Amino acid sequence: MKTIAIIAHDGKKPEMVQFLNGNRDILQHKNIKLIATGTTGSKTEAAGYEVEKLLSGPLGGDAQIAARIAEKKVDMVIFFRDPLDKHPHEPDVYMLMRLCDVHNVPLATNPATAKLLIKGL
Ligand code: PGA
Repeated sequence: MKTIAIIAHDGKKPEMVQFLNGNRDILQHKNIKLIATGTTGSKTEAAGYEVEKLLSGPLGGDAQIAARIAEKKVDMVIFFRDPLDKHPHEPDVYMLMRLCDVHNVPLATNPATAKLLIKGL
């Protein structure tokens, strides 16, 4: 079982939904478990996926995912960041990305990279 964490900043949520819809054949495989920050998780559910929803990003959802990365419970992170917006939880975002590098967890921050990563599953 592979666990993939899904996160998208508000400006990138439409792209995330598009990504989920376009890669259903891989992502809805029975050996893949999805976890997500709150609002991204709701959109993921609305797209027809089963997903474990954590807190919304600004309320600590990114930090929860970061903790799971540190516990080696996450195999891949797909995090569509919005580079054109400010985020109150920037420290949590940075922590999450840092922990991916500490624990050698694949991290995609845009759809082109995410597509390549999931092909490698
Ligand atoms: P959200 O959080 O899915 O609850 O919007 C994502 C984020 O802003 O990090």
